[in-house]
Amino acid sequence: MNERDSEIISQSLSGYGYIESLDMESSDVIIINTCSIRAKAEQKVMSLLGMLKKEKKSRPELKICVAGCVAQQEGGHLLERMPHVDLVVGTQNIFDIPELLQGCSKGKKIITSMTDSYEIPRFIPEISEATITDVRRVPRPFKKFVTIMQGCNNYCTYCVVPYTRGREISRKKNDIIDEVNVLVDSGVREITLLGQNVNSYGLANKVTETDIPYSFPSLLEDIARISGLKRIRFTTSHPKDLSEDLMRCFRDIDILCHQIHLPVQAGSNAVLKRMNRKYTIGKYLQKIDVLRAYCPDIAITTDIIVGFPGETANDFEQTMILLEKVRYDGSFSFKYSDRPGTKSSELQEKVAESIKSQRLSRFQTRQDEISLEKNSAFIGKSLPVMVESCNVDNCQGRSEYNHVVHIEKNISNTPGDIVDVFIYHAGQHSLQGRIVEDT
Ligand code: SAM
Ligand code: SF4
Repeated sequence: MNERDSEIISQSLSGYGYIESLDMESSDVIIINTCSIRAKAEQKVMSLLGMLKKEKKSRPELKICVAGCVAQQEGGHLLERMPHVDLVVGTQNIFDIPELLQGCSKGKKIITSMTDSYEIPRFIPEISEATITDVRRVPRPFKKFVTIMQGCNNYCTYCVVPYTRGREISRKKNDIIDEVNVLVDSGVREITLLGQNVNSYGLANKVTETDIPYSFPSLLEDIARISGLKRIRFTTSHPKDLSEDLMRCFRDIDILCHQIHLPVQAGSNAVLKRMNRKYTIGKYLQKIDVLRAYCPDIAITTDIIVGFPGETANDFEQTMILLEKVRYDGSFSFKYSDRPGTKSSELQEKVAESIKSQRLSRFQTRQDEISLEKNSAFIGKSLPVMVESCNVDNCQGRSEYNHVVHIEKNISNTPGDIVDVFIYHAGQHSLQGRIVEDT
């Protein structure tokens, strides 16, 4: 989601004559698009800002802008801590950055944030237009993110998203379809539909089509009809809202990649309850069974938090047992950290850092073994791989299961082409192979 926001910031600035650069020392403006989901992400932002103090001192005309969730969360406090920052832009105001930058001249500081009387943000009606015009101007990569909704209404007790991103709002169907059409016309072959919980698309601010509720599976079906599009992915799915209609899409929609990210967070029902996740492990496992019945080869990944307040040794064992039962293809696992304003930050029974580290390492070690076992099952098989990049020696692409696949030599195909690759080696996080004609 942040990656997509950074793209929007870059696209809207290019309309004002700015050119994107990764070289901070020669830049006139530095924009830090931030994430505050875990304490570590926020600490990184603060240390980067600390480093920029010297740069600003030697070049007072340099503009430093902090955007995104940390900006939303901290607002004016950020300027108190980091007075060399010029502009603090909340999550709903990223489209305004070009004008805001013009406004902060002669040492004037500007802070914007989501208002308390939260309405459908400007983002929704304007994104398709902005994206449509801007997309034509930027180089045409073959793979893009498309935001279909923003915000979240779930209030998991550990999570800042409902506070930093606001309430859940779905974009209009036609805006999304128009955006995908424009992207496909400009050479895009794969899209990933984005939302904190795509499964509840169209529900919070009812998206309807001639008064019939319009759901995420319907959106997938409509997008899949767009000629020229080769692959669709989506993320993220909340297990409580994963419907059978959506699971059926993996069987029925040819270009929907056989891959789902289904964050479970913990294997203990007691912990899930305190997290306010609104499902039990029994229900979650039932859904995994149905999913695999519709799509036996589906790759399933997850998110895990270890050391949630009050997580006992036995609770953690339940997470390890769940890992053995589901055998995830991969996972993102994190040590719990308190986030400002969340309910779990008020819970007393904090788990010691050393125990969190032990649990994380145990989980990750076992996950790596399972990932390697699962990846090794592809050795000796051919997989369609979308080429992503090539250098003189080799190419890299992705399978529909989202594996990174290293392809033995430079091939004449261009990024976005799908080639058959014979897999001869597997690692924990990638596969290696050669194109089938060579085998
Ligand atoms: N909306 C998605 C969902 O419900 O699964 C993911 C949202 S969040 C951006 C990504 C992941 O960060 C979560 O799935 C969770 O595992 C992790 N996370 C969120 N808050 C956290 C916290 N306070 N401490 C540690 N990990 C956290
Ligand atoms: Fe955060 Fe839960 Fe919403 Fe995901 S579903 S963004 S974890 S509150």
